[in-house]
Amino acid sequence: MKGRKLLMIPGPIEFEPDVLLAMSIPTTSHVSPDFINVFGTSLELMRDVWKAPKGQPFIVAGTGTLAMDMAAANLIEQGDHVLIIASGYFGNRFKAIAERYGAKTTLLEAPLGELVSLETIEKELKSKPYKALTITHVDTSTGLLTDPKPIAQLAAKYNTLSVLDGVCSVAGEAIHQDEWGLDIVLTASQKAIGVPPGLALLMASEKAMHVWENRKTPVPNYYADFSNWLPIMHAYEARKPSYFGTPAVNLIVALEVSLKIICAEGIDQRIQRHHNLAKAFRAGIAALDLDILPKTNTTAANTLTAIYYPKGINGADLSTQMSANAVIIAGGLLPELKATYFRIGHMGSVSSNDLLAVLGALERALITLGHPIKAGQSLQTFQETLLKNHR
Ligand code: PMP
Repeated sequence: MKGRKLLMIPGPIEFEPDVLLAMSIPTTSHVSPDFINVFGTSLELMRDVWKAPKGQPFIVAGTGTLAMDMAAANLIEQGDHVLIIASGYFGNRFKAIAERYGAKTTLLEAPLGELVSLETIEKELKSKPYKALTITHVDTSTGLLTDPKPIAQLAAKYNTLSVLDGVCSVAGEAIHQDEWGLDIVLTASQKAIGVPPGLALLMASEKAMHVWENRKTPVPNYYADFSNWLPIMHAYEARKPSYFGTPAVNLIVALEVSLKIICAEGIDQRIQRHHNLAKAFRAGIAALDLDILPKTNTTAANTLTAIYYPKGINGADLSTQMSANAVIIAGGLLPELKATYFRIGHMGSVSSNDLLAVLGALERALITLGHPIKAGQSLQTFQETLLKNHR
């Protein structure tokens, strides 16, 4: 569509037309048989996407922060030790949330662009009995990707619950919740799940549900309490009417459409597409002599890329030029570094055509602003890298 801008920020993302269409249907009753079936199917499909056949899914109106809040509210009690493994901005958010529920937190952080080592994590887990640890799978502020599998194994070894903030990763990065032993994997609708903002999505393991059931004190948050939501999730899966808080009917109709699109592509194929596109995109960025925040390719996320501005180019000018070239990008998010980098999201339905458009727009913007590159440089590298992946 002429004049339409591509939304390439790390959430909200570009949504599938069928998902947007589902948002516009006449709103039905939350206890109508059709909607009950949509809700029930969405819960079932979540288990496929999370690879958590034994998990307990929750769909609640709210944002990713609510999903984090639900994890903390239901699992943590006053005085519990919680280990926060940070890789950017969102570690501090989890720390603040856990502390609100009385946790004594320890935050582990590596130098910028790097991840906390497994040795450091194990040393800390050995030092005191941690009730839970949190991992940010992809930190949207740095574009860093953490491998949750070995951390979940360590957590299990020390009888600690593992909570994965998958807001910027679920349906875009590999997750095998049951196999890896992750206790909570949470996300929000507006990212790789591909539904407009407004849904908090969470999957709890049997162990997490057991820990919650055996709490000594009530959950000190009414809206977040599993006690209120679990009967609702059970009822919808049993295709029975129920009510606690009015569900976000149209968003859930859209969620079912999107989960079906994800499962039709195949979750493994979808992750591979994210991987191939992100790898080619990073190669294209490197061909423009631009640096990314993560220090290595294996720790760079496949759902977004965080890129330093080249010398002499300021953020406002670049985003104005990009917008004039019909692509919306995001600025930096880490408070101390905000002005030095920008972010481009590439998750959900993203295609190679979208990324060619982004790189083309970026080249023109940079050349207009005086960055010494040749038009086509990143496009060629992107194409060649993609072709190599397919050989
Ligand atoms: N965690 C991560 C990794 C995120 O990227 C975000 C959102 N950018 C959040 C948590 C919070 O999600 P929300 O904005 O939906 O509350």
